[in-house]
Amino acid sequence: MTTRHIHMTIAAAEQQTDKQLERLFSGNAHEIRASLAVMKAKGMEVIPSAGCDNYDAKGYCLGHEESEPQGQPSAGLSHRADHGER
Ligand SMILES: [Zn+2]
Repeated sequence: MTTRHIHMTIAAAEQQTDKQLERLFSGNAHEIRASLAVMKAKGMEVIPSAGCDNYDAKGYCLGHEESEPQGQPSAGLSHRADHGER
């Protein structure tokens, strides 16, 4: 299963008020705006999500493969519930 992070565009972030920025990115608004400027200078369009380690040059998430959790013998049992004869 592949999941993708949701991104806010840098342009949208720049339109937020300082208070909104600080709540969204938990930091000092002045520093956040400086970071946004750096990202834009690099040619990025969106802000990579916190914890996203797989994004392209513009900041878009490329997706993450999620491996099935191990050691769950009950997994799959729910599928058989549909097989009952009626
Ligand atoms: Zn991601």
